[in-house]
Amino acid sequence: MADKVLEVEHLEKYYQKKHVLFDINLSIQQGEVVTLLGPSGSGKSTLIRCLNGLEEYQKGTIIFEGKKIVPTEKNWQQIRQKIGMVFQSYDLFPNLTVIDNILLGPIKVQKQDKSAARVEAKKLLKSVDLEDYADVYPRELSGGQKQRVAIVRALALHPDFMLFDEVTASLDPEMVRGILNIIKGLANMDNMTMIVVTHEMNFAQEIADRVVFLENGHILEQTPAKQFFSKPKTDRAQAFLDSMD
Ligand code: ADP
Ligand code: MG
Repeated sequence: MADKVLEVEHLEKYYQKKHVLFDINLSIQQGEVVTLLGPSGSGKSTLIRCLNGLEEYQKGTIIFEGKKIVPTEKNWQQIRQKIGMVFQSYDLFPNLTVIDNILLGPIKVQKQDKSAARVEAKKLLKSVDLEDYADVYPRELSGGQKQRVAIVRALALHPDFMLFDEVTASLDPEMVRGILNIIKGLANMDNMTMIVVTHEMNFAQEIADRVVFLENGHILEQTPAKQFFSKPKTDRAQAFLDSMD
Protein backbone atom coordinates (compact mmCIF):
# COMPACT_ATOMS: atom_id res chain seq x y z
CA MET A 1 0.00 0.00 0.00
CA ALA A 2 1.23 3.49 -0.84
CA ASP A 3 2.45 5.74 1.92
CA LYS A 4 0.07 8.09 3.61
CA VAL A 5 1.03 11.69 3.01
CA LEU A 6 -1.62 13.31 5.09
CA GLU A 7 -3.92 12.17 7.82
CA VAL A 8 -6.53 14.26 9.55
CA GLU A 9 -8.17 12.95 12.69
CA HIS A 10 -11.22 14.40 14.38
CA LEU A 11 -10.54 17.96 13.30
CA GLU A 12 -12.92 20.65 14.54
CA LYS A 13 -12.82 24.28 13.49
CA TYR A 14 -14.61 27.30 14.88
CA TYR A 15 -14.58 30.92 13.77
CA GLN A 16 -15.14 32.48 17.18
CA LYS A 17 -18.36 30.76 18.30
CA LYS A 18 -19.31 29.56 14.86
CA HIS A 19 -18.62 25.85 14.39
CA VAL A 20 -17.66 25.31 10.73
CA LEU A 21 -15.86 21.93 10.55
CA PHE A 22 -17.13 18.88 12.40
CA ASP A 23 -15.10 15.74 13.11
CA ILE A 24 -13.11 15.79 9.86
CA ASN A 25 -11.28 12.54 9.15
CA LEU A 26 -9.20 12.12 6.03
CA SER A 27 -6.36 9.94 4.89
CA ILE A 28 -4.53 10.71 1.68
CA GLN A 29 -2.06 8.41 -0.03
CA GLN A 30 0.99 9.53 -1.93
CA GLY A 31 0.11 10.22 -5.56
CA GLU A 32 -3.60 10.41 -4.89
CA VAL A 33 -5.73 13.16 -6.40
CA VAL A 34 -8.67 14.08 -4.21
CA THR A 35 -11.30 16.57 -5.20
CA LEU A 36 -13.10 18.29 -2.40
CA LEU A 37 -16.63 19.12 -3.48
CA GLY A 38 -19.57 20.72 -1.76
CA PRO A 39 -21.90 23.68 -1.85
CA SER A 40 -20.65 27.19 -1.26
CA GLY A 41 -20.12 27.78 2.44
CA SER A 42 -19.70 24.08 3.24
CA GLY A 43 -16.17 24.62 4.59
CA LYS A 44 -13.94 23.60 1.68
CA SER A 45 -11.65 26.62 1.83
CA THR A 46 -11.50 26.50 5.60
CA LEU A 47 -10.45 22.85 5.53
CA ILE A 48 -7.79 23.45 2.87
CA ARG A 49 -6.47 26.40 4.86
CA CYS A 50 -6.28 24.30 8.03
CA LEU A 51 -4.18 21.75 6.12
CA ASN A 52 -1.65 24.43 5.33
CA GLY A 53 -1.63 26.11 8.72
CA LEU A 54 -3.35 29.24 7.43
CA GLU A 55 -6.23 28.71 9.86
CA GLU A 56 -6.10 27.47 13.39
CA TYR A 57 -8.20 24.49 14.37
CA GLN A 58 -9.51 23.91 17.84
CA LYS A 59 -9.48 20.13 18.06
CA GLY A 60 -8.00 17.19 16.26
CA THR A 61 -4.73 16.13 14.75
CA ILE A 62 -3.02 16.60 11.42
CA ILE A 63 -0.27 14.15 10.53
CA PHE A 64 1.95 15.07 7.59
CA GLU A 65 4.35 12.50 6.17
CA GLY A 66 3.94 10.39 9.27
CA LYS A 67 4.64 13.16 11.75
CA LYS A 68 2.04 14.72 13.96
CA ILE A 69 2.06 18.45 13.43
CA VAL A 70 2.58 20.57 16.49
CA PRO A 71 0.73 23.61 15.20
CA THR A 72 3.12 26.45 15.84
CA GLU A 73 3.76 29.09 13.19
CA LYS A 74 7.38 28.00 12.95
CA ASN A 75 6.42 24.39 12.24
CA TRP A 76 3.84 25.43 9.69
CA GLN A 77 6.37 27.59 7.88
CA GLN A 78 8.51 24.51 7.39
CA ILE A 79 5.63 22.35 6.28
CA ARG A 80 4.50 25.00 3.80
CA GLN A 81 7.80 24.48 2.01
CA LYS A 82 6.51 21.06 1.07
CA ILE A 83 2.87 21.88 0.43
CA GLY A 84 2.17 24.16 -2.50
CA MET A 85 -1.05 26.11 -2.43
CA VAL A 86 -2.82 28.10 -5.12
CA PHE A 87 -5.91 30.15 -4.34
CA GLN A 88 -8.69 31.79 -6.27
CA SER A 89 -7.02 35.18 -5.89
CA TYR A 90 -3.51 34.98 -7.22
CA ASP A 91 -1.95 37.27 -4.61
CA LEU A 92 1.31 37.82 -6.43
CA PHE A 93 3.49 40.54 -4.96
CA PRO A 94 2.61 43.61 -7.08
CA ASN A 95 6.00 45.28 -6.57
CA LEU A 96 7.99 42.28 -7.83
CA THR A 97 8.41 41.10 -11.40
CA VAL A 98 7.11 37.71 -12.42
CA ILE A 99 10.47 36.03 -12.02
CA ASP A 100 11.13 37.67 -8.66
CA ASN A 101 7.72 36.54 -7.45
CA ILE A 102 8.71 33.00 -8.38
CA LEU A 103 12.24 33.18 -6.93
CA LEU A 104 11.37 34.69 -3.59
CA GLY A 105 10.53 31.38 -1.89
CA PRO A 106 13.25 29.23 -3.47
CA ILE A 107 16.05 31.74 -2.83
CA LYS A 108 15.05 33.66 0.30
CA VAL A 109 13.33 30.88 2.17
CA GLN A 110 14.69 27.61 0.82
CA LYS A 111 18.17 28.98 0.07
CA GLN A 112 18.27 27.21 -3.28
CA ASP A 113 21.23 28.06 -5.48
CA LYS A 114 20.37 31.37 -7.17
CA SER A 115 21.39 30.69 -10.72
CA ALA A 116 19.97 27.18 -10.72
CA ALA A 117 16.71 28.49 -9.29
CA ARG A 118 16.57 31.13 -12.01
CA VAL A 119 17.14 28.59 -14.76
CA GLU A 120 14.42 26.41 -13.33
CA ALA A 121 12.00 29.32 -12.95
CA LYS A 122 12.48 30.15 -16.62
CA LYS A 123 11.86 26.54 -17.57
CA LEU A 124 8.68 26.50 -15.52
CA LEU A 125 7.54 29.76 -17.14
CA LYS A 126 8.12 28.23 -20.53
CA SER A 127 6.06 25.21 -19.57
CA VAL A 128 3.06 27.49 -19.05
CA ASP A 129 3.77 29.59 -22.18
CA LEU A 130 5.02 32.60 -20.24
CA GLU A 131 8.69 32.57 -21.19
CA ASP A 132 8.46 36.16 -22.44
CA TYR A 133 6.95 37.50 -19.24
CA ALA A 134 9.75 36.96 -16.70
CA ASP A 135 10.48 40.66 -16.30
CA VAL A 136 7.00 42.16 -16.32
CA TYR A 137 4.97 43.14 -13.28
CA PRO A 138 1.77 41.32 -12.27
CA ARG A 139 -0.41 44.32 -13.20
CA GLU A 140 0.55 43.80 -16.84
CA LEU A 141 -0.83 40.24 -16.86
CA SER A 142 -4.30 38.89 -17.52
CA GLY A 143 -6.04 36.86 -14.83
CA GLY A 144 -5.15 33.60 -16.54
CA GLN A 145 -1.52 34.62 -16.83
CA LYS A 146 -1.38 35.63 -13.17
CA GLN A 147 -2.83 32.31 -12.18
CA ARG A 148 -0.22 30.48 -14.25
CA VAL A 149 2.49 32.47 -12.47
CA ALA A 150 0.93 31.58 -9.13
CA ILE A 151 1.07 27.89 -10.05
CA VAL A 152 4.69 28.18 -11.20
CA ARG A 153 5.55 30.00 -7.99
CA ALA A 154 4.16 27.10 -5.99
CA LEU A 155 5.97 24.52 -8.13
CA ALA A 156 9.32 26.29 -7.80
CA LEU A 157 9.37 25.12 -4.18
CA HIS A 158 9.32 21.50 -5.38
CA PRO A 159 6.27 20.46 -3.42
CA ASP A 160 5.05 16.92 -3.64
CA PHE A 161 1.69 17.92 -2.29
CA MET A 162 -0.45 20.64 -3.83
CA LEU A 163 -3.64 22.31 -2.66
CA PHE A 164 -5.79 24.11 -5.22
CA ASP A 165 -8.75 26.16 -4.08
CA GLU A 166 -11.06 27.17 -6.93
CA VAL A 167 -8.17 28.46 -8.97
CA THR A 168 -10.33 29.13 -12.03
CA ALA A 169 -13.25 30.74 -10.22
CA SER A 170 -12.32 34.32 -11.03
CA LEU A 171 -11.07 33.72 -14.57
CA ASP A 172 -12.73 34.56 -17.85
CA PRO A 173 -14.18 31.40 -19.39
CA GLU A 174 -11.63 31.34 -22.21
CA MET A 175 -8.80 31.25 -19.66
CA VAL A 176 -10.16 28.34 -17.68
CA ARG A 177 -9.21 25.42 -19.90
CA GLY A 178 -5.53 26.38 -20.02
CA ILE A 179 -5.26 26.42 -16.24
CA LEU A 180 -7.17 23.19 -15.88
CA ASN A 181 -4.85 21.51 -18.36
CA ILE A 182 -1.82 22.58 -16.33
CA ILE A 183 -3.33 21.13 -13.18
CA LYS A 184 -4.26 18.00 -15.05
CA GLY A 185 -0.63 17.63 -16.16
CA LEU A 186 0.47 17.88 -12.53
CA ALA A 187 -2.15 15.38 -11.44
CA ASN A 188 -0.73 12.88 -13.91
CA MET A 189 2.78 13.19 -12.52
CA ASP A 190 3.88 10.25 -10.44
CA ASN A 191 3.93 10.90 -6.74
CA MET A 192 2.21 14.28 -6.93
CA THR A 193 -0.48 14.31 -4.30
CA MET A 194 -3.24 16.88 -4.65
CA ILE A 195 -6.40 18.15 -3.09
CA VAL A 196 -8.41 20.16 -5.56
CA VAL A 197 -11.47 22.27 -4.80
CA THR A 198 -13.33 23.08 -7.99
CA HIS A 199 -16.72 23.89 -9.41
CA GLU A 200 -15.75 22.39 -12.75
CA MET A 201 -17.40 19.00 -12.55
CA ASN A 202 -16.05 17.65 -15.83
CA PHE A 203 -12.57 18.56 -14.73
CA ALA A 204 -13.11 17.00 -11.30
CA GLN A 205 -14.23 13.84 -13.00
CA GLU A 206 -11.19 13.82 -15.27
CA ILE A 207 -8.56 14.15 -12.56
CA ALA A 208 -9.96 12.75 -9.33
CA ASP A 209 -9.17 9.41 -7.84
CA ARG A 210 -11.51 10.09 -4.96
CA VAL A 211 -14.16 12.63 -4.09
CA VAL A 212 -14.62 14.01 -0.62
CA PHE A 213 -18.05 15.59 -0.34
CA LEU A 214 -18.53 18.24 2.30
CA GLU A 215 -21.77 19.84 3.43
CA ASN A 216 -22.30 22.21 6.35
CA GLY A 217 -18.88 21.35 7.68
CA HIS A 218 -19.42 17.58 7.67
CA ILE A 219 -17.84 15.05 5.34
CA LEU A 220 -20.93 13.26 4.09
CA GLU A 221 -19.06 10.80 1.93
CA GLN A 222 -15.69 9.82 0.51
CA THR A 223 -16.16 7.84 -2.64
CA PRO A 224 -14.00 6.65 -5.56
CA ALA A 225 -14.45 9.27 -8.26
CA LYS A 226 -15.89 6.96 -10.86
CA GLN A 227 -18.57 5.82 -8.49
CA PHE A 228 -19.25 9.30 -7.13
CA PHE A 229 -20.01 10.76 -10.53
CA SER A 230 -22.21 7.88 -11.61
CA LYS A 231 -23.96 7.16 -8.35
CA PRO A 232 -22.87 8.87 -5.13
CA LYS A 233 -23.66 7.21 -1.84
CA THR A 234 -25.76 10.04 -0.41
CA ASP A 235 -28.84 11.83 -1.66
CA ARG A 236 -27.23 15.12 -0.68
CA ALA A 237 -24.32 14.52 -3.03
CA GLN A 238 -26.72 13.50 -5.79
CA ALA A 239 -28.66 16.73 -5.26
CA PHE A 240 -25.39 18.66 -5.42
CA LEU A 241 -24.41 16.99 -8.70
CA ASP A 242 -27.86 17.65 -10.14
CA SER A 243 -27.53 21.33 -9.21
CA MET A 244 -24.21 21.56 -11.05
CA ASP A 245 -25.55 20.41 -14.43
P1 ADP B 1 -16.47 27.12 1.05
O1 ADP B 1 -15.04 27.31 0.70
O2 ADP B 1 -16.94 25.71 0.99
O3 ADP B 1 -17.38 28.03 0.28
P2 ADP B 1 -15.73 28.38 3.55
O4 ADP B 1 -14.69 27.49 4.15
O5 ADP B 1 -15.28 29.61 2.88
O6 ADP B 1 -16.67 27.51 2.59
O7 ADP B 1 -16.74 28.79 4.70
C1 ADP B 1 -17.29 27.86 5.64
C2 ADP B 1 -18.10 28.63 6.66
O8 ADP B 1 -17.23 29.43 7.45
C3 ADP B 1 -19.12 29.59 6.05
O9 ADP B 1 -20.24 29.60 6.88
C4 ADP B 1 -18.40 30.92 6.09
O10 ADP B 1 -19.34 31.97 6.17
C5 ADP B 1 -17.58 30.80 7.37
N1 ADP B 1 -16.33 31.58 7.31
C6 ADP B 1 -15.36 31.47 6.38
N2 ADP B 1 -14.31 32.28 6.66
C7 ADP B 1 -14.65 32.93 7.80
C8 ADP B 1 -13.99 33.90 8.62
N3 ADP B 1 -12.76 34.36 8.31
N4 ADP B 1 -14.66 34.34 9.73
C9 ADP B 1 -15.86 33.86 10.05
N5 ADP B 1 -16.53 32.94 9.34
C10 ADP B 1 -15.94 32.47 8.23
MG1 MG C 1 -14.16 28.45 -0.79
